[in-house]
Amino acid sequence: MSAEALRAAVRDVIDFPKPGIVFKDITPILADGALFRESISLLCETAGGAKIDKVVGIDARGFIFAAAVADRLGAGFVPVRKKGKLPWKTHFTAYELEYGEAAVEMHQDAVKPGESILVVDDLLATGGTAAAALKLLAGLGANVLGVSVLIELEFLNGRSKLEPHPVRTIITY
Ligand code: AMP
Repeated sequence: MSAEALRAAVRDVIDFPKPGIVFKDITPILADGALFRESISLLCETAGGAKIDKVVGIDARGFIFAAAVADRLGAGFVPVRKKGKLPWKTHFTAYELEYGEAAVEMHQDAVKPGESILVVDDLLATGGTAAAALKLLAGLGANVLGVSVLIELEFLNGRSKLEPHPVRTIITY
């Protein structure tokens, strides 16, 4: 099995959630045990054998991959959530969307200074969401080893917003 098998399973949904967007639906990967396991294996390989203390997943599809990667790597899992969902004391940051603004937040005690972090999400588009997560992690003094994403929409050049962190992706469009 390979990244090509994963690519073949991604379903393009035209004009979702609004006209002009081609939504990359990863639920066919999740629904297939072998494909899901392969997606987690390939994401784990992006860590290159480095010791990871915590895997940070981004709301909401990122949680699915990040939690499985954390379990496989023997690391902890930390959620970056949309504003208003976390119960404890948080840090938050707002960021630009194509239309309007969004905000994400993290618990203040979720990561200790110097801990080695891998950020995981399902898809990198403009990079705004991952950049916001990196900003929160920088504020906590985390040592971010990289950002690993299943799908990258290369033509949006989201990775430029994440410099100088290494960005590793499995399937690119
Ligand atoms: P961005 O902040 O633009 O990089 O957007 C990344 C987030 O939005 C990811 O967490 C994705 O889940 C979601 N997203 C953006 N564009 C798409 C797309 N075309 N298909 C599926 N998910 C998307």
